[in-house]
Amino acid sequence: MFIKLILVLLLGWIGFSLMKRFKQNNPSVSKNGKGQKMIACEVCDTHVPESDVIVKNGKNYCSKAHVE
Ligand SMILES: [Zn+2]
Repeated sequence: MFIKLILVLLLGWIGFSLMKRFKQNNPSVSKNGKGQKMIACEVCDTHVPESDVIVKNGKNYCSKAHVE
């Protein structure tokens, strides 16, 4: 009976540790809680998700209108 309980606790602990390690190793975990890094536009300083940002000549823009 006790062995079963210990096994369950051990498995739970291992799962928890692995999840923690996975989260720490995942660079896409971020600030806005949606798994996306926010980047400021060079022109208007609006923060846009990394996936929506337009990069040109090493600078970040929120929309095509702000790209020179
Ligand atoms: Zn902008």
